Amino acid sequence: MKSAILSIGREIVSGITLDTNSHFISSYLTRVGILNRFIQSVDDRKGDIVVSVRFLLDRVDILITTGGLGPTFDDITLEAVAEALGKKLYLDTEALEFIQAFYERLYKAGKIDSPILNDKRKKMAYLIEGCKPLKNSVGAAWGVYLKDGEKHIFCLPGLPKEMRAMFEDEVLPIVEKLSDRVSLIKEVTVDLNDESVLGRLIDRVMKSHDVYIKSLPEGFDKRQMNVRFTAFGKSNEEAEQKIESALSELLRLINQHN
Ligand code: AMP
Ligand code: MG
Repeated sequence: MKSAILSIGREIVSGITLDTNSHFISSYLTRVGILNRFIQSVDDRKGDIVVSVRFLLDRVDILITTGGLGPTFDDITLEAVAEALGKKLYLDTEALEFIQAFYERLYKAGKIDSPILNDKRKKMAYLIEGCKPLKNSVGAAWGVYLKDGEKHIFCLPGLPKEMRAMFEDEVLPIVEKLSDRVSLIKEVTVDLNDESVLGRLIDRVMKSHDVYIKSLPEGFDKRQMNVRFTAFGKSNEEAEQKIESALSELLRLINQHN
Protein backbone atom coordinates (compact mmCIF):
# COMPACT_ATOMS: atom_id res chain seq x y z
CA MET A 1 0.00 0.00 0.00
CA LYS A 2 1.28 3.44 -0.98
CA SER A 3 0.08 6.70 0.49
CA ALA A 4 0.34 10.46 0.13
CA ILE A 5 -0.39 13.38 2.41
CA LEU A 6 -1.70 16.70 1.17
CA SER A 7 -1.55 19.58 3.63
CA ILE A 8 -3.80 22.39 2.58
CA GLY A 9 -3.44 25.97 3.74
CA ARG A 10 -1.90 29.29 2.79
CA GLU A 11 -0.17 29.43 6.19
CA ILE A 12 1.73 26.24 5.28
CA VAL A 13 2.95 27.20 1.79
CA SER A 14 3.77 30.78 2.80
CA GLY A 15 6.14 29.75 5.58
CA ILE A 16 4.06 30.92 8.54
CA THR A 17 3.09 27.54 10.01
CA LEU A 18 5.35 24.50 10.06
CA ASP A 19 3.59 21.46 8.61
CA THR A 20 3.78 19.25 11.69
CA ASN A 21 0.62 17.37 10.66
CA SER A 22 2.32 15.66 7.73
CA HIS A 23 5.19 14.62 9.96
CA PHE A 24 2.79 13.12 12.49
CA ILE A 25 0.70 11.27 9.89
CA SER A 26 3.63 9.95 7.85
CA SER A 27 5.38 8.56 10.92
CA TYR A 28 2.26 6.55 11.79
CA LEU A 29 1.79 5.36 8.19
CA THR A 30 5.36 4.11 8.08
CA ARG A 31 4.91 2.28 11.37
CA VAL A 32 1.88 0.38 10.09
CA GLY A 33 3.78 -0.73 7.00
CA ILE A 34 2.46 1.76 4.45
CA LEU A 35 4.92 3.37 2.04
CA ASN A 36 4.30 7.09 2.15
CA ARG A 37 5.45 8.36 -1.24
CA PHE A 38 4.51 12.04 -1.12
CA ILE A 39 4.05 14.93 1.26
CA GLN A 40 2.64 17.80 -0.73
CA SER A 41 1.39 21.21 0.38
CA VAL A 42 -0.97 23.49 -1.47
CA ASP A 43 -2.53 26.93 -1.07
CA ASP A 44 -6.25 27.31 -0.32
CA ARG A 45 -7.07 27.56 -4.03
CA LYS A 46 -9.69 25.18 -5.31
CA GLY A 47 -8.18 24.62 -8.75
CA ASP A 48 -4.76 23.88 -7.27
CA ILE A 49 -6.19 21.49 -4.68
CA VAL A 50 -8.07 19.62 -7.43
CA VAL A 51 -4.84 19.26 -9.45
CA SER A 52 -2.92 18.03 -6.40
CA VAL A 53 -5.60 15.52 -5.43
CA ARG A 54 -5.70 14.07 -8.96
CA PHE A 55 -1.92 13.97 -9.22
CA LEU A 56 -1.60 12.10 -5.94
CA LEU A 57 -4.52 9.73 -6.50
CA ASP A 58 -2.96 8.69 -9.82
CA ARG A 59 0.06 7.47 -7.87
CA VAL A 60 -1.01 6.09 -4.49
CA ASP A 61 -3.74 3.96 -2.85
CA ILE A 62 -4.34 6.15 0.19
CA LEU A 63 -4.59 9.94 0.24
CA ILE A 64 -4.84 11.85 3.50
CA THR A 65 -5.56 15.58 3.38
CA THR A 66 -5.27 17.91 6.33
CA GLY A 67 -6.65 21.43 6.70
CA GLY A 68 -9.49 23.42 5.21
CA LEU A 69 -12.53 21.85 6.89
CA GLY A 70 -13.50 24.82 9.06
CA PRO A 71 -16.12 27.59 8.75
CA THR A 72 -14.14 30.29 6.92
CA PHE A 73 -14.07 31.31 3.23
CA ASP A 74 -10.74 29.56 2.64
CA ASP A 75 -11.92 26.20 4.00
CA ILE A 76 -12.68 24.56 0.67
CA THR A 77 -11.09 21.13 0.97
CA LEU A 78 -14.28 19.07 0.69
CA GLU A 79 -15.53 21.09 -2.27
CA ALA A 80 -12.20 20.58 -4.03
CA VAL A 81 -11.89 16.87 -3.24
CA ALA A 82 -15.48 16.32 -4.38
CA GLU A 83 -14.73 18.11 -7.64
CA ALA A 84 -11.55 16.08 -8.19
CA LEU A 85 -13.58 12.88 -7.79
CA GLY A 86 -16.64 14.06 -9.72
CA LYS A 87 -18.82 13.88 -6.61
CA LYS A 88 -21.24 16.25 -4.88
CA LEU A 89 -21.56 17.58 -1.34
CA TYR A 90 -24.65 16.81 0.72
CA LEU A 91 -25.96 18.16 4.02
CA ASP A 92 -25.31 15.50 6.66
CA THR A 93 -28.08 15.83 9.24
CA GLU A 94 -26.11 14.02 11.95
CA ALA A 95 -23.15 16.35 11.43
CA LEU A 96 -25.53 19.32 11.54
CA GLU A 97 -27.00 18.14 14.87
CA PHE A 98 -23.50 17.62 16.21
CA ILE A 99 -22.45 21.15 15.17
CA GLN A 100 -25.58 22.61 16.74
CA ALA A 101 -24.95 20.78 20.01
CA PHE A 102 -21.25 21.74 19.88
CA TYR A 103 -22.02 25.49 19.72
CA GLU A 104 -24.82 25.19 22.28
CA ARG A 105 -22.37 23.61 24.72
CA LEU A 106 -19.86 26.43 24.15
CA TYR A 107 -22.64 29.00 24.58
CA LYS A 108 -23.86 27.45 27.83
CA ALA A 109 -20.28 27.39 29.12
CA GLY A 110 -20.07 31.13 28.42
CA LYS A 111 -17.34 30.70 25.79
CA ILE A 112 -19.20 32.17 22.81
CA ASP A 113 -21.88 34.84 22.43
CA SER A 114 -24.42 32.98 20.32
CA PRO A 115 -25.45 29.36 19.74
CA ILE A 116 -27.23 30.21 16.48
CA LEU A 117 -26.47 27.94 13.57
CA ASN A 118 -25.32 30.58 11.08
CA ASP A 119 -24.30 29.75 7.51
CA LYS A 120 -20.61 29.47 8.40
CA ARG A 121 -21.32 26.87 11.06
CA LYS A 122 -23.81 25.07 8.83
CA LYS A 123 -21.19 24.90 6.07
CA MET A 124 -19.23 22.32 8.11
CA ALA A 125 -22.15 19.85 7.85
CA TYR A 126 -21.71 19.54 4.06
CA LEU A 127 -19.80 16.32 3.45
CA ILE A 128 -18.96 14.36 0.29
CA GLU A 129 -21.65 11.99 -1.02
CA GLY A 130 -20.91 8.34 -0.34
CA CYS A 131 -18.48 9.09 2.50
CA LYS A 132 -18.20 7.68 5.96
CA PRO A 133 -18.15 10.76 8.24
CA LEU A 134 -15.20 10.89 10.64
CA LYS A 135 -16.22 12.26 14.03
CA ASN A 136 -14.31 15.07 15.66
CA SER A 137 -13.91 14.57 19.42
CA VAL A 138 -12.22 17.97 19.83
CA GLY A 139 -13.76 20.48 17.40
CA ALA A 140 -16.86 21.12 15.29
CA ALA A 141 -15.80 19.99 11.81
CA TRP A 142 -16.17 16.34 10.94
CA GLY A 143 -13.80 14.73 8.48
CA VAL A 144 -14.58 12.27 5.72
CA TYR A 145 -13.45 8.85 4.60
CA LEU A 146 -14.22 7.96 1.02
CA LYS A 147 -13.60 4.76 -0.80
CA ASP A 148 -13.54 5.57 -4.51
CA GLY A 149 -12.88 2.37 -6.47
CA GLU A 150 -9.61 1.06 -5.09
CA LYS A 151 -8.61 4.45 -3.64
CA HIS A 152 -9.00 5.49 -0.01
CA ILE A 153 -9.31 9.19 0.74
CA PHE A 154 -9.35 10.74 4.20
CA CYS A 155 -9.93 14.46 4.83
CA LEU A 156 -8.85 15.61 8.29
CA PRO A 157 -8.89 19.01 10.02
CA GLY A 158 -5.85 21.29 10.15
CA LEU A 159 -5.71 22.12 13.84
CA PRO A 160 -3.12 19.65 15.13
CA LYS A 161 -5.02 18.55 18.23
CA GLU A 162 -8.18 17.89 16.18
CA MET A 163 -6.24 16.17 13.40
CA ARG A 164 -4.36 13.93 15.84
CA ALA A 165 -7.49 12.85 17.69
CA MET A 166 -9.32 12.06 14.44
CA PHE A 167 -6.32 10.26 13.00
CA GLU A 168 -5.83 8.06 16.06
CA ASP A 169 -9.54 7.38 16.70
CA GLU A 170 -10.86 7.00 13.16
CA VAL A 171 -8.12 6.69 10.54
CA LEU A 172 -5.51 4.48 12.16
CA PRO A 173 -7.81 1.46 12.68
CA ILE A 174 -8.77 1.61 8.98
CA VAL A 175 -5.25 2.00 7.54
CA GLU A 176 -3.92 -0.69 9.87
CA LYS A 177 -6.45 -3.09 8.33
CA LEU A 178 -5.55 -1.99 4.79
CA SER A 179 -1.91 -2.79 5.39
CA ASP A 180 -0.80 -6.41 5.60
CA ARG A 181 2.57 -5.65 7.16
CA VAL A 182 4.43 -3.60 9.73
CA SER A 183 7.73 -1.77 9.60
CA LEU A 184 10.63 -1.63 11.96
CA ILE A 185 13.40 0.95 12.20
CA LYS A 186 16.74 0.43 13.90
CA GLU A 187 19.67 2.80 14.20
CA VAL A 188 23.21 1.68 14.94
CA THR A 189 26.59 3.41 15.13
CA VAL A 190 29.38 2.05 12.93
CA ASP A 191 33.13 2.65 12.94
CA LEU A 192 33.32 4.54 9.67
CA ASN A 193 32.87 8.26 9.03
CA ASP A 194 33.24 8.40 5.26
CA GLU A 195 29.87 8.12 3.58
CA SER A 196 31.44 7.56 0.16
CA VAL A 197 33.14 4.43 1.46
CA LEU A 198 30.22 3.24 3.55
CA GLY A 199 27.86 3.89 0.62
CA ARG A 200 29.55 1.22 -1.49
CA LEU A 201 29.20 -1.33 1.31
CA ILE A 202 25.56 -0.35 1.82
CA ASP A 203 24.91 -0.86 -1.92
CA ARG A 204 26.21 -4.41 -1.62
CA VAL A 205 24.07 -5.22 1.41
CA MET A 206 20.92 -3.69 -0.10
CA LYS A 207 21.37 -5.80 -3.24
CA SER A 208 21.09 -9.00 -1.25
CA HIS A 209 18.71 -7.90 1.55
CA ASP A 210 15.18 -6.52 1.52
CA VAL A 211 16.15 -3.66 3.83
CA TYR A 212 16.43 0.10 3.27
CA ILE A 213 19.70 1.37 4.69
CA LYS A 214 20.41 5.07 5.17
CA SER A 215 23.67 6.51 6.43
CA LEU A 216 23.33 9.61 8.61
CA PRO A 217 26.54 11.66 8.20
CA GLU A 218 27.46 14.33 10.75
CA GLY A 219 30.77 15.50 9.31
CA PHE A 220 34.34 14.27 9.70
CA ASP A 221 34.97 15.41 13.28
CA LYS A 222 33.76 12.05 14.53
CA ARG A 223 35.22 8.70 13.50
CA GLN A 224 31.79 7.05 13.57
CA MET A 225 28.47 7.38 11.83
CA ASN A 226 24.89 6.38 12.55
CA VAL A 227 23.13 4.12 10.09
CA ARG A 228 19.36 3.58 9.97
CA PHE A 229 17.83 0.29 8.85
CA THR A 230 14.17 0.10 7.82
CA ALA A 231 12.46 -3.18 6.99
CA PHE A 232 8.90 -4.31 6.35
CA GLY A 233 7.56 -7.71 7.35
CA LYS A 234 4.37 -9.65 7.97
CA SER A 235 5.27 -9.43 11.65
CA ASN A 236 7.69 -7.51 13.87
CA GLU A 237 9.77 -10.67 14.13
CA GLU A 238 10.09 -10.99 10.37
CA ALA A 239 11.12 -7.33 9.98
CA GLU A 240 13.56 -7.66 12.86
CA GLN A 241 15.10 -10.76 11.38
CA LYS A 242 15.65 -8.95 8.05
CA ILE A 243 17.34 -6.04 9.83
CA GLU A 244 19.58 -8.29 11.93
CA SER A 245 20.72 -10.18 8.86
CA ALA A 246 21.49 -6.98 6.91
CA LEU A 247 23.20 -5.43 9.91
CA SER A 248 25.53 -8.37 10.48
CA GLU A 249 26.44 -8.40 6.78
CA LEU A 250 27.21 -4.67 6.84
CA LEU A 251 29.31 -5.01 10.00
CA ARG A 252 31.21 -7.87 8.38
CA LEU A 253 31.97 -5.74 5.31
CA ILE A 254 33.03 -2.78 7.49
CA ASN A 255 35.38 -5.03 9.49
CA GLN A 256 36.86 -6.33 6.27
CA HIS A 257 37.36 -2.77 5.03
CA ASN A 258 38.89 -1.51 8.30
P1 AMP B 1 -7.54 25.04 8.95
O1 AMP B 1 -8.41 23.95 9.45
O2 AMP B 1 -6.98 24.78 7.61
O3 AMP B 1 -8.22 26.38 8.99
O4 AMP B 1 -6.31 25.11 9.95
C1 AMP B 1 -6.48 25.63 11.25
C2 AMP B 1 -5.13 25.94 11.86
O5 AMP B 1 -4.43 24.72 12.09
C3 AMP B 1 -4.20 26.75 10.98
O6 AMP B 1 -4.39 28.13 11.14
C4 AMP B 1 -2.83 26.33 11.46
O7 AMP B 1 -2.46 27.07 12.59
C5 AMP B 1 -3.06 24.90 11.88
N1 AMP B 1 -2.63 23.96 10.82
C6 AMP B 1 -3.26 23.75 9.64
N2 AMP B 1 -2.60 22.86 8.90
C7 AMP B 1 -1.52 22.49 9.64
C8 AMP B 1 -0.44 21.57 9.42
N3 AMP B 1 -0.36 20.87 8.27
N4 AMP B 1 0.50 21.46 10.38
C9 AMP B 1 0.40 22.17 11.51
N5 AMP B 1 -0.59 23.04 11.78
C10 AMP B 1 -1.54 23.20 10.86
MG1 MG C 1 -6.96 26.68 6.42
